[in-house]
Amino acid sequence: MNGLMMQQPLLISSLLVHAERHHGDREVVSRRVEGDIHRYTYREMAARARRLANALAALGVKPSERVGTLAWNGYRHMELYYAVSGAGSVLHTINPRLHPDQVVYIADHAEDQVLCFDLSFLPLVQAVAGRTKTIRHFVAMTDRAHMPADPKIPNLLCYEDLVAAESDQYEWPEFDENTASSLCYTSGTTGNPKGVLYSHRSTVLHTFAIALPDALNCSANDSILPVVPMFHVNAWGLPYAACMTGAKLVFPGPGLDGKSLYELFEAEQVTVSAGVPTVWQALLAYVDANKLKFSSMRRTVVGGSACPPAMLRKFAEDYDVHVLHAWGMTEMSPVGTVAAFKPQHLALPVEQRYAVMAKQGRAVYGVDMKIVDPAGRELPWGGPVSGDLLVRGPWVLSRYFKGDGGNPLRGGWFPTGDVARIDAEGYMLITDRSKDVIKSGGEWIGSIDLENIAMAHPAVAIAACIAVPHPKWDERPLLVVVRRPGAELTREELLAFYEGKIAKWWTPDDVVFVDAIPLGATGKMQKNKLREMLKDYRLPGA
Ligand code: ADP
Repeated sequence: MNGLMMQQPLLISSLLVHAERHHGDREVVSRRVEGDIHRYTYREMAARARRLANALAALGVKPSERVGTLAWNGYRHMELYYAVSGAGSVLHTINPRLHPDQVVYIADHAEDQVLCFDLSFLPLVQAVAGRTKTIRHFVAMTDRAHMPADPKIPNLLCYEDLVAAESDQYEWPEFDENTASSLCYTSGTTGNPKGVLYSHRSTVLHTFAIALPDALNCSANDSILPVVPMFHVNAWGLPYAACMTGAKLVFPGPGLDGKSLYELFEAEQVTVSAGVPTVWQALLAYVDANKLKFSSMRRTVVGGSACPPAMLRKFAEDYDVHVLHAWGMTEMSPVGTVAAFKPQHLALPVEQRYAVMAKQGRAVYGVDMKIVDPAGRELPWGGPVSGDLLVRGPWVLSRYFKGDGGNPLRGGWFPTGDVARIDAEGYMLITDRSKDVIKSGGEWIGSIDLENIAMAHPAVAIAACIAVPHPKWDERPLLVVVRRPGAELTREELLAFYEGKIAKWWTPDDVVFVDAIPLGATGKMQKNKLREMLKDYRLPGA
């Protein structure tokens, strides 16, 4: 017997309709590429998204066709999020930090029909425009007054002209909730980037989950500033969660340096933010150097790579900001776990609470996870052994766009490529990515642990740990460090800092000081590049 409730498909457009009807006066504030601050309400945003949907239809964009974006976090990008998906087409957010060759590859693979871009990315678009196969229209996301005089792109269209020419009367179509809504390519550290194709259903379910109190805890009373880019797994779902909850949205645009971010946090009384650790490092350095405080920020989500415990401690003790450490991946929409407390943690001594917060966290409802040994046998929770981390759920990928890479699943589970432990309370701790694991004498050494210790040293700005060949142990850990500006630190001092913090045989064999560690398009350390940089390095005596 079926239940007798309405069959209403879970569509992304319904989030916008909700925001307009029930939170119509709530503001969306953006720092623009043009240099100023733009503000309007959800009501105005919804009207412009409808105009844009009409404009895309006039350009001949059909349901299921892909519309690419190369854009910062801002209101026009937000309008595209809703207009493109809402109309039944697919929003393809492209990471502008990729090499032009990769952008061409991705745009061709996705068969993008239209490419909308912020003016900052004009040089990149010029570099790819003559090379892509399917893009019929290029749209500069600006007004007539700011259109480039000589863009070197034939028939370049102006976003504001397109929007102004259309009516705001548009009925969001109703269709199957399993329809594709958006497309995001993995960064492709190995091989070509692969497309992850989200659906309306997966997106809306993920939005419910991340808005919950023990996840990102979004409410109508929040002012949310996603630092994580809208081209990095849909800004972790915050553009959707803000509409679902009626939170104020604040977009930083191109202003991702510490000063610009801090000013926006204060001016717009931001309560919640989210980003990768490297961004927070820059913000904290600025706030520290200028002896500032956050007057409204209460919590920040840190994910994308491991949050160094020293960072969550600093946020808490110096700035009264609670760090929510979260883990996920493009293939998971992205959120899988969040390190929110359970009741038994609340009364713990502060050091033990930090230890809970430093784990990647417990599964949010909708995601199940397990760890397995190399033979695929499930490993127990609460044990000392790490295993391959597998996940499943309605917002986890089942296969890549166009079937690239074949069937990625193992017995119905998606192998994340991460190596993790799960404690008896269900908190997962990533010890490594499988390709970054250091195998010494047949035992694994967790590079993340070693990095976290180094980054707790006051003279260290950033540290990465990689495996280097060793004649006896196969591999040993090498620590690569960037010192803080003006700080002095020797190899011996840093290695002594490990004493008592870790099993002695885990201590790195050597330290190499460098000017910079290569960061990838999403702000993560690129250990493959680092290994390449140091391929001629030999351990002392090895
Ligand atoms: P890519 O895989 O292309 O680098 P993703 O953004 O999908 O891009 O990255 C997902 C990976 O990032 C995870 O599989 C994991 O290795 C790492 N990651 C994400 N969040 C965390 C975290 N909190 N701690 C440690 N690693 C993390």
